[in-house]
Formats: sequence, structure tokens, C-alpha cells
Amino acid sequence: MKIKVLEDILEANDHIALQNRSLFDKSRVLVLNLMSAPGSGKTTLLETTIKSLGKEYKIGVIEGDIETTRDAERMEKLEIPIVQINTKSVCHLDASMIKGVIDDLPLEELDFLFIENVGNLVCPAEFKVGEHHKVMLLSVTEGDDKPLKYPLMFRESSVMLINKIDLLPYTDFSMESAKANARQINPQLEIIELSCRTDEGLSRWLDWLRGNLIS
Ligand code: MG
Ligand code: ZN
Repeated sequence: MKIKVLEDILEANDHIALQNRSLFDKSRVLVLNLMSAPGSGKTTLLETTIKSLGKEYKIGVIEGDIETTRDAERMEKLEIPIVQINTKSVCHLDASMIKGVIDDLPLEELDFLFIENVGNLVCPAEFKVGEHHKVMLLSVTEGDDKPLKYPLMFRESSVMLINKIDLLPYTDFSMESAKANARQINPQLEIIELSCRTDEGLSRWLDWLRGNLIS
């Protein structure tokens, strides 16, 4: 019984996600759904990315947070179009939440729209929001076995960014195992190692973004 209810919820969500997606396609804006555990560096990645690409491209952001507007306030300093969604105890964004704020963004003008999902490795992966790609962050301060523990997110993502590589010498994180575990779940997964603190590896991520632009 419970399973049937969840199926219905996901089906209704997928339907709205398709509507969002067709609007994104029509507006020729590349939409990326950014997901990770809390504290992996999603907001910092966005700040770094926007500082690097903001002069070349028009970028918008949707910030998902359970309660506060702290991340959105950080982002506002970059003077880009940004909307905030407070999910009020819901631990993921869904397609109808995104649909509800789309009109507040100048979609037609944007090249990229980043959606920062709620920090959570489980259900954000289940709810499509109309994105072109799911991008996930795994930081080296987390376990290199996370792909095995939370396979759905790794399976659904196009790219995995392994963040905070400047901290590698201080952790027991095995880059080799992390990559092997992730590729076991998703052989097509693009993996990029980077540090948003030192900018090491950042250019590969920026190249990936440029390469996926909708022309
Ligand atoms: Mg954040
Ligand atoms: Zn959730």
C-alpha cells in the first residue's frame, strides 16, 4: 500500500518535471541539479563557478534549503538572478517547487541555471525537477564507500565532482576506491577531482560546463 502511494507521487512529479524541462529547452538554458550530502561544498562550488564563468555567460541559481536563506544571501553578493525555496522540513526539492519559482527567473536570458538541492544523499535523486543533468559532489572528508551506500544518486548523475582534494593528505579517503565504487554503479559517470579552495582541477569542470551548453 505504502509503495503504491510513493509510486503515484513519483509519477506525478515526473509529469511536472517534463513540463519544466520543455520550458528549459525552449529557453535554451542548461539546467543542472546539484546534489550532495550536507557540507560537501555545493554553495562554495557555485560561488567559484559563477566567479569564473559569470563574465562569459548568464547564470541563474535556485537555492533549496530546509529553513534558512544563508546560502542564498552568500549567492546574492554575486549579483545574479537567484530565487530561494525553503522546503519547510521537506528533505529534497521536487518538480512542483521548481515550477513554482520558474517565473521569477529570466529564463530566456540565461545560459546556465544551477539548482542547489537540499543536502541529502537519498531522496533528491528520486525526484526529477526537469534538469538536463544531475551533478553530485563527494568531498574527500566523506567515505570513499558512499557510492555503494547510496547507489541511486551515483547512478542518476552525469558527473561526480570529488571536492576538497587539497585535504587529501589529512584523510584516509582513497581516490582509487571512490572512483572504482562509483564506476561500479555507473560506468558512464564523468569524474572530476577538484578543490574549490585552491581552484585545482576547476578548469576541467568549467570545460565540462562549456561543452554541455545548449547552443
Ligand atoms: Mg549550500
Ligand atoms: Zn526527501
